Amino acid sequence: MITLSGVTKRYGDKTVLRGIDFTVPQGQVACLIGPSGSGKSTVLRAINGLERHDGGTIEVDGLPVTDANLAAIRRKVAMVFQRFNLLPHRTVLENVIEGPVHVLGEPRAAAEAHAMELLDQVGLADRAGAMPSHLSGGQQQRVGIARALAMRPQAILFDEPTSALDPERVGEVLQVMRALAQSGMTMIVVTHEIAFAREVGDRAIFMADGVVVEDGPARDVLTAPRAPRTRQFLDRVL
Ligand code: ATP
Ligand code: MG
Repeated sequence: MITLSGVTKRYGDKTVLRGIDFTVPQGQVACLIGPSGSGKSTVLRAINGLERHDGGTIEVDGLPVTDANLAAIRRKVAMVFQRFNLLPHRTVLENVIEGPVHVLGEPRAAAEAHAMELLDQVGLADRAGAMPSHLSGGQQQRVGIARALAMRPQAILFDEPTSALDPERVGEVLQVMRALAQSGMTMIVVTHEIAFAREVGDRAIFMADGVVVEDGPARDVLTAPRAPRTRQFLDRVL
């Protein structure tokens, strides 16, 4: 469970989060949508402590996100970025076992066996020995997801995981995310894929200008939004 209450964040004199409140329970898929600059990435980065929030509290499983708890928080919450963030000079398999071996201290053989299961899960078992540069963007992002899963996280935060991909590669990544959602993984997904959010999301949270404007079941928020600001946004992106 991830809980934000009254979370604020400033960059210099610019306030980018103005009191964010929401709770994502275990197993929920929450899609975070909103215009550019509304603070979506800042929210994700604050949850896993990549960015320090100024006010309010963030808790993961009851553990407050503070400097002292960062290592523990990052074990609980993995992040998948728009750019795949793979180690370029390591094979796919080495990328997936890196965290488990170096951060969690798992024995290499066990980490490799788990990594192969995860690569199978994302449809890339046959590419375990390949270098990232020899993979398509969609394949690299699926490795990115396997890499996140290898840490056995309780939740995964996705920041526009498909927006750097060629259009014909988007579907394969969304398919992996759909399967993950069905497996009960807790997910917060920043996305512009409204159709995906409507279909896979349990919940949609619409942000604008550093506040949550609308929050509810994905189907309701994304098909019959109540706030004019949400409607305006959806009219523009759909
Ligand atoms: P996008 O859809 O474009 O990714 P976003 O909703 O993810 O937008 P954020 O990246 O969270 O928005 O940014 C929110 C605001 O904070 C923006 O005005 C942005 O310019 C500003 N901002 C983000 N990171 C920094 C930083 N490191 N220093 C200064 N300002 C920042
Ligand atoms: Mg962003």
